[in-house]
Amino acid sequence: MRRGWFATLIAATLLSSSASGATKLEDVVLTVALVEDPDFPPLDEQLVKRALEHARKEFSRRFDAPAPTFEVKYRFDVEGFLGAYGNPRDPKCKELYAGRYKGGGATELRPHQARALRFLKKWSLDALKGFIEDDAKDRVKSYEEVYDYYVARYTGTVAKLTKLKTPKGTPLVEPGRNEHRSFVAWMCALERQEDSDVVITNTFILSDLLTEPHPHSVFGKAKIGGIAMPSGHRSALGGQVLLATTFGIDTQVSELSELGGAPATFDERAKILGAYLLAHEVAHAIFGIPDVFDHPLGCLMTSRPGATYRDGIQELEAHPTPCPRCQPYVVARKTMDQGRVAFDAKRYGDARRLLLTAAKKIPKHFHGGRRRRIAEIVLLASRASEGSGATNDAVKFAKLAVKLDPRSSAASKQLEALTVMPKREMPALMASRALTSSTATTTDR
Ligand SMILES: [Zn+2]
Ligand SMILES: [Zn+2]
Repeated sequence: MRRGWFATLIAATLLSSSASGATKLEDVVLTVALVEDPDFPPLDEQLVKRALEHARKEFSRRFDAPAPTFEVKYRFDVEGFLGAYGNPRDPKCKELYAGRYKGGGATELRPHQARALRFLKKWSLDALKGFIEDDAKDRVKSYEEVYDYYVARYTGTVAKLTKLKTPKGTPLVEPGRNEHRSFVAWMCALERQEDSDVVITNTFILSDLLTEPHPHSVFGKAKIGGIAMPSGHRSALGGQVLLATTFGIDTQVSELSELGGAPATFDERAKILGAYLLAHEVAHAIFGIPDVFDHPLGCLMTSRPGATYRDGIQELEAHPTPCPRCQPYVVARKTMDQGRVAFDAKRYGDARRLLLTAAKKIPKHFHGGRRRRIAEIVLLASRASEGSGATNDAVKFAKLAVKLDPRSSAASKQLEALTVMPKREMPALMASRALTSSTATTTDR
């Protein structure tokens, strides 16, 4: 049922813990759902509990910031979860499904080449070349050649995966058919569900979204270990939801194991799930740090080409201090939070100054959309200007927020509340909305 905007506004005001409409880091509570695929070993609730403790600890020490709290609330089987929330015909999911790999080889990838190349160009050529095997490295001199390498490598890897079986003897993956193991199907369900911020599963998820070829995945095992992606329904992580799977930790299939075939203790498994996967995904959502491949040793956001999760967690243990190259993201977020605190205390001048500083500090390559995050900040700057009586500035910032994030209903409402728009302005505003298309917003581990 749709509610009127006034009822929604009242509900939002009652629910939010602060007048800024945003929650401070220490107040963030994340609702967790466990989703189980019966073809794999069951999810161990004790392991999940320990993993969530590791996630909090790692997040705090790695970023010197308060960690969110997790609450495990739901348990589904995979069929129930994807059956309830997935829907390929939903307009939100149609575009995802149009980019789904169905196992047809190289010719199926070519129609998506332009978008895939735009996605790959987020990283430097050198960073991408780190994923290319030594004997081919010298031949690859352009993004187009990286793309050609990806096409051959990815289609070959998926072809091999189709020959593997689950512990129950069923096919591990059937591209284009088995929804339970499809990244596209999971993304669709995660976006449509309204109840959880974090989903933990035990299943294998094939990296089958051809428009966003995540380097670590498509040049590696073509599987997804964890993701952070947009959600129109969840606000705890600023409109994002997370997923992590225990598959790579617990699988007995040696070529897919993230433990290099060696056995693991309970605590090591929990640490990989919590510190290596979940804390990493939480940092994507909270700080906007993208997947990086060239930060120094001990960076939680870096996946090293060819490294297993076990290698990754050992590297983190050996280098416990925060990564200096992730710091600009952390500083930008902390400045934004200081702005929110000032706003809540009605120190509107300070709030405005801090928020505009935070907006300027946001690094260029930003997970979840830089324009979206800046829009969130200038929207609050608009409210702060309004609070201090600077109406012209309030209007200016509200217009900017709408322009940067045309999908933000909060920004549109702020602009509407501040000004009755003359009709002649509408076409210009609509045009700016149409021009702002969504950018790639997922990240993986
Ligand atoms: Zn880093
Ligand atoms: Zn990632």
